[in-house]
Amino acid sequence: ELKNVSLHFPIRAIGRSGEKVRAMDDVNLTINKGEIVALVGESGSGKTTTARAVARIYSPTGGKVIFQGEDIYAPEYKKKIDWYRKQVQMIFQDPFGALNPTHKIRSILSRPFIIHNICPKSEIEEKMVEVLTEVGLEPAEQFLDKFPHELSGGQLQRINIARAISVEPVLLLADEPTSMLDVSIRMTIMNMIKNFRDKDQISYLYITHNLAGARYIADRIAVMYAGMLVEIGPTDEVIQQARHPYTKLLRSAAPQPEKGFREEKMGSTGDIPSLIDPPSGCRFHPRCPYRKPECSQTIPEMNQLNDSHQVRCILYKDGNIPELD
Ligand code: SF4
Repeated sequence: ELKNVSLHFPIRAIGRSGEKVRAMDDVNLTINKGEIVALVGESGSGKTTTARAVARIYSPTGGKVIFQGEDIYAPEYKKKIDWYRKQVQMIFQDPFGALNPTHKIRSILSRPFIIHNICPKSEIEEKMVEVLTEVGLEPAEQFLDKFPHELSGGQLQRINIARAISVEPVLLLADEPTSMLDVSIRMTIMNMIKNFRDKDQISYLYITHNLAGARYIADRIAVMYAGMLVEIGPTDEVIQQARHPYTKLLRSAAPQPEKGFREEKMGSTGDIPSLIDPPSGCRFHPRCPYRKPECSQTIPEMNQLNDSHQVRCILYKDGNIPELD
């Protein structure tokens, strides 16, 4: 659970001391056991920073990250870090860069078993074969003797997934795991992720810029814009009844396969703003066709539309649910 998490990086460049990159601001998000939550937004919106705050790579400058009831950044949590690093694993966007090119797959895959003391040394080979088979790399023994450069992008991402699941984590942070793969393999990888959720009740924070991919894989979608969450809700609701003007913009850019899922037209597009000096008030206001004068004055609160759907926009204040064109 992320509770009011903010993360502001100081800029170290000469002449810019005192300035900060506001990568995350007031982020509140819960991921339940066995749930896939997609964190969706454009590049530079703070998605990867969010995953890294959960992975205990970047320490928040405000708020808390709670895992199974404990604040993972509390000083007393330091003694549990090794245990935490086993529970929470990452799958990276670049399957090539995530693996040491000078090591054979056997060496790469055996490390988590050794580091986290998963099983006696004599059983590691057998466990590696098991886990490679689980990710569809067969005959597994042949893959153990290969170097990363001998494998395709899809095979490498399967190795990355095998490495992550080998320690039986409870939460996987998947950072755009299919975006560098051929279209033909993307669905296979997403189905694999879903299968592990169904079989082992692994939870996922699934980061993507692609709303269609989020729609396919996620139980809930959280939309991030310029370091802030702007809409959170069940996948079907966020897709079919997108409330925040930014979610509507993202939806208009996503493939719309089924009939009746019409293209939305936004009056304004533009780019995501700099996080060094983000717009005042609602960070989306320079791009928003529905903006009002007060939108540039005050940061909107998250409004609760129902038990599970929230939106950060003044149009939804006081229980209002306007139909936006
Ligand atoms: Fe648009 Fe205002 Fe809502 Fe922001 S708060 S999304 S600017 S209407």
